Amino acid sequence: MSTLLIDQTFEDWPLDGVPKYRREQLRRWVFEQGCFTWEEMTNLPKSLREELSKKWSLLPMELIRSQGSADTTQKFLWKLRDGQLIESVLIPATEGTQGVRASRLTLCVSTQVGCAIGCKFCASGLDGLKRNLSTGEIVGQVLLARKQARKRIDNLVFMGMGEPLANLPALLPALDQIISPDGLGIGARHLTLSTSGLATKIVELAKYPAQIRLAISLHGGDDETRQKIMPINQKFPMNQLLAACEQFIQERKKMITLEYILIEGINDDLKQAELLASHARRLNAKINLIPYNKVEGLHWRRPRLEQIKAFHRKVEIGNPPRVTLRMEKGHDIDAACGQLRLREISESKFCQSS
Ligand code: SAH
Ligand code: SF4
Repeated sequence: MSTLLIDQTFEDWPLDGVPKYRREQLRRWVFEQGCFTWEEMTNLPKSLREELSKKWSLLPMELIRSQGSADTTQKFLWKLRDGQLIESVLIPATEGTQGVRASRLTLCVSTQVGCAIGCKFCASGLDGLKRNLSTGEIVGQVLLARKQARKRIDNLVFMGMGEPLANLPALLPALDQIISPDGLGIGARHLTLSTSGLATKIVELAKYPAQIRLAISLHGGDDETRQKIMPINQKFPMNQLLAACEQFIQERKKMITLEYILIEGINDDLKQAELLASHARRLNAKINLIPYNKVEGLHWRRPRLEQIKAFHRKVEIGNPPRVTLRMEKGHDIDAACGQLRLREISESKFCQSS
């Protein structure tokens, strides 16, 4: 298999002997035009294209299915060059600013094929980790989704399949390309990395110079509760996780978000709401409450609406900086970001389900 050119950052494309202005033309084709075939790059000499195409491949993945429409949530199923499947989800959000309604697009990006962390409520990890995504496969999701949408993508959330902080060597160069004005030009403040709580990696990420946002999947107010659903808590207990968050905040001077999915009978008692609010106060963090979305084959359920509301109220009484309750319409597990499900990564089942 030829090597994927965008696995290297464009500043370092190892194209020996290719003049600078030709590389610049190539960069424009890929990052500005979203072009992935040598044939289309008509302002490059044919001989050069032929030579480059022997060694370098441009296309990181192929779209094999898309669900939804441009005005609603749109899900893309991609086939990677080795046949593995991943998904990205495009989510439009209409915002009103001074009477003008602007539609902004958020893309939910995958960072691994599968996941090794094994949170018990999550389908992405049910089948373990297959492999990390490469830099080009991460950047490629954004390039190709933008091409499909025919619109600028405004925000990225790394909440698709996989644990972003377990793949920093490929992810950080991908972020560089995404942020760079010569790359995708999406400002760092519009990128959110979500982590299950790899404390040592949070500290490492604090050194990354760009102002990216960080979200922590907390899902429990104490070790006992968190451990029931997140085995990672054994390796990085809450003390260590919260200390790492404190360090991140201190170094970055940036607010973080605590994500809390509500699962009936597991983490939805009001004591947990109190604890959650107190952690958020300590970290000066925002809270995102997300009622659990049912996953086929798993027995976890979202709490009843009254319990969700009671939990929300109790958190608010605890006076954290900000609490948001994210209730998606229609309980739509297929559309929800952050839940690229086993059902969808198995091609045959994907076809059956749609
Ligand atoms: N691995 C990272 C990012 C991907 S998961 C992480 O765990 O943070 C993105 C978010 O989706 C996490 O907060 C995760 O806990 C949440 N999630 C997973 N399965 C879910 C489900 N069935 N319902 C609601 N949220 C879910
Ligand atoms: Fe992996 Fe995140 Fe799913 Fe946990 S919630 S298994 S870390 S993708």
